[in-house]
Amino acid sequence: MGVIQLMPDHLANKIAAGEVVERPASVVKELLENSIDAGSRSITIELQEAGLQRIRIVDNGRGMDEEDAVLSFSRHATSKIKGEEDLFHVRTLGFRGEALASIAAVSRLTLKTSPGETAGIKLELEGGKIINREKSDARKGTEIIVDELFYNTPARLKYMKTINTELGHITDVLNRMALAHPEIQFSCKHNDKELFRTNGRGDLLQVIAKIYGMNVARKMVPVEAESIDFTIKGYIAKPEIYRASRNYTSTIVNGRYVRSMVLNKAIHQGYHTLLPIGKSPIVVLNVEMDPILVDVNVHPAKLEVRFSKEKELFSLLADTIQTAFRKEMLIPQVKDEPSKKPEKLISSQETFDFYESKPAVKCEERPVVQEPTDYYKEKQSEILESIQQDVISQPESEIHRETSYEDEHVKREALQEKEKQRVPVMYPIGQLHGTYILAQNEEGMYIVDQHAAQERIKYEFFRDRIGEVEHEVQELLVPMTFDFQYHEALKIEEHKEELERVGLFFEAFGDNSYIIRSHPQWFPQGFEEEVIQEMIEQLFENERIDLKKLREEAAILMSCKRSIKANHYLNNDDMFKLLEDLRKSTDPFTCPHGRPIIVFFSEYEMEKMFKRVM
Ligand code: ADP
Ligand code: MG
Repeated sequence: MGVIQLMPDHLANKIAAGEVVERPASVVKELLENSIDAGSRSITIELQEAGLQRIRIVDNGRGMDEEDAVLSFSRHATSKIKGEEDLFHVRTLGFRGEALASIAAVSRLTLKTSPGETAGIKLELEGGKIINREKSDARKGTEIIVDELFYNTPARLKYMKTINTELGHITDVLNRMALAHPEIQFSCKHNDKELFRTNGRGDLLQVIAKIYGMNVARKMVPVEAESIDFTIKGYIAKPEIYRASRNYTSTIVNGRYVRSMVLNKAIHQGYHTLLPIGKSPIVVLNVEMDPILVDVNVHPAKLEVRFSKEKELFSLLADTIQTAFRKEMLIPQVKDEPSKKPEKLISSQETFDFYESKPAVKCEERPVVQEPTDYYKEKQSEILESIQQDVISQPESEIHRETSYEDEHVKREALQEKEKQRVPVMYPIGQLHGTYILAQNEEGMYIVDQHAAQERIKYEFFRDRIGEVEHEVQELLVPMTFDFQYHEALKIEEHKEELERVGLFFEAFGDNSYIIRSHPQWFPQGFEEEVIQEMIEQLFENERIDLKKLREEAAILMSCKRSIKANHYLNNDDMFKLLEDLRKSTDPFTCPHGRPIIVFFSEYEMEKMFKRVM
């Protein structure tokens, strides 16, 4: 006799549930998708214990008649696709017909639904089996109650994290749904406390304000663009606000929140050089396209998608963002088109400068190379002399001298040894493109990125000054306000003691908002808010505050913002001072972000380049 058997439906559903229903947030997501697909304009969500005890969702969509209601719990029962062809034209959020069957399999579920014409139907299910069926009222729409999620899959239940963590995931889902559908009124309660509510008037900026707070909403820039295949619409935050987490980048494709490498890369490209390294922007972007251009059937939770015209979409999005900032900052037409210029010639800080809308100094307006002051004239002639002496004392080092392999090897080693040592005194020759300092000494020639150099110097200065944290506090004249999302506010409450230990006293101030009236003395002036943001993000990401890392971040932040940018004219004294300060820093070779500061052309390499040595 064969050993293979077909699984009974309830077992197959329970297994499928493992994929579809990972945690309460996935139930909320699937049910909301169904409500949206049913054309609802208003959806209420009620949760008990982060949805583990109860999830109740009521919508005013088209509802189901009795026959459909019963059928909806069968596996692969869907009204959304009929043939294979439909799979390439999915306009709805759901299409696999798995969600209801899966959710019902791992909970006690009640469904009440009616298309609004006749009496409705109420079904009660346990572990996926209908255990009760009765008539109900004729209110048009659907109500689903999911009680005791995972009651019959204890292994899954064991994986659930704290209430706050699960609630955080649900909040993420709700935020995304609300951002993707400002035309739908959402309201959500947790343990009878209102979590959030949107008005359903279709105003995306209002939803953004609800979710991220007014301070963020005020800094959002609207964007809109269209090509033959795509329409892009949404809001992007000015680069002055950013987050450490990618979670604030929301991309929506045909009404579906998706994660997409292509879209993320395009967004980062759009913000290129405007954001500190490793930070992500706050962005909500809707992309509309013919469903044939996007494959939504590549991920179990339909979170990831694949585009057929990836490249076009990438450039449209990246360009849209770039253009939006240029317009926003009222920057005069930038002549150099970065994409047409060889990459190496573009200084990343150039764009930064435009953004800060400081008048970019044109090199030709001021002489690039200044007449050296007497002091440097002296220094330079000293060097020249020493070089000449070198040449005289080593006649074999003249043109076309022959060098043996060993010679070369020894020279290179000596050079590397020297490089390992401190940077020797460098004497400025001049400034290149308002961005680089050219300098020289007996070793060769140096090209120094002036912004990176100053970042390094300032960074070390601030790092030392911030030093050890004392407990003195600085009172603020105007208290600062911080708006949080509900689950973030819970985290603030949870970590209040730790925050107070580092000198931050959050005072509750209305719904999920807090004020701060003082801050630790060591906070750098003018950067208080950023340091606090940084602290909060650390807390949210790592559940703890690492003061050492924080001071480091603060130092980087200040050094970057306070440093001279590219296109900034320096005279010879400024240059020499900068080079000297750089030389004295502990790590003069890279800026705090890890970019190189100095490019060095040794005398020997130059000789090689000009074939003076073979
Ligand atoms: P899918 O959404 O992939 O079709 P589901 O298991 O989520 O699969 O739902 C099965 C079917 O039940 C849907 O195709 C839809 O016809 C119906 N349905 C589910 N939820 C609702 C709702 N809130 N309002 C109206 N119909 C619904
Ligand atoms: Mg569905």
